[in-house]
Amino acid sequence: MIGDVVIRCEGLSRSYGSGENEVHALVDADLEVRSGELVVLRGPSGSGKTTLLNLLGGLDTPSSGHVWLGDREVTGASEAELIEMRRSELGYIFQTFALLPVLSAAENVELPMRILDVDAAERDTRVAGLLEIVGLADHANQRPNELSGGQQQRLGIARSLANDPRLLIADEPTGQLDSVNAEAMMSLIAALVHQRGVAAIVSTHDPKMAAHADRIIEIHDGRVGRRRGRHASDAEPDTSPVRIIRGGTPAPAPTSPAPAPTPEPRPEE
Ligand code: ADP
Ligand code: MG
Repeated sequence: MIGDVVIRCEGLSRSYGSGENEVHALVDADLEVRSGELVVLRGPSGSGKTTLLNLLGGLDTPSSGHVWLGDREVTGASEAELIEMRRSELGYIFQTFALLPVLSAAENVELPMRILDVDAAERDTRVAGLLEIVGLADHANQRPNELSGGQQQRLGIARSLANDPRLLIADEPTGQLDSVNAEAMMSLIAALVHQRGVAAIVSTHDPKMAAHADRIIEIHDGRVGRRRGRHASDAEPDTSPVRIIRGGTPAPAPTSPAPAPTPEPRPEE
């Protein structure tokens, strides 16, 4: 079930450089993502996807505009508040996996919990559960370089869920994967979003990756589709060169507490 607004931005812009060299990487973006909703941000390379996701995740500061995570404004928060928000409310999945090579799979998933001082017994339970969800229960003691690309990315997902975030941000999580693993990755993310009621925004430059989306937002030259509500009638007149492709059909109601989604077939194993 699609629920409350988790992340929202208004008039969000980011420019780099100045004068003749100024690049308008993101121009006046408005969007919102609700719990239990998987939004795919689709656009070619250089269209501003990473810029937008970094701003939503509080990893970068906009030139103008606002971001709210729930009731809290991200823009204008202190560095300490941002760090706290990122650790406790946000899961970030990177294209390059960003795993720590000297740690085992289990330790990589555990690290964000240690940072939040989760007690040891609770950590063990959560790590085991997350590795199970992403189909890596049998690989807990292996280091990232002993895992395939698809497995590493699934480990990245498990880590991003370590502290039970409200929002999942994934920047081209399928970018380094072959098409079969990429498809498995997207369906895993979709299952997690719909079963756990997490809000997710996932960027891709691959048009095929959008099949699991509840809603697709196109971005071109830093301009995203304008949309304030979930229904077409709520949208502002579309003055940008960008359109919302597909309306948000509510996902099946999640069961709570969420059971583990069934991992997709893992062809590389
Ligand atoms: P995408 O993730 O869709 O490939 P980006 O958000 O990375 O796009 O980039 C959008 C635009 O902003 C591109 O023109 C890119 O060259 C420019 N850009 C991104 N980061 C920087 C930076 N740190 N300095 C200058 N220009 C940048
Ligand atoms: Mg990018």
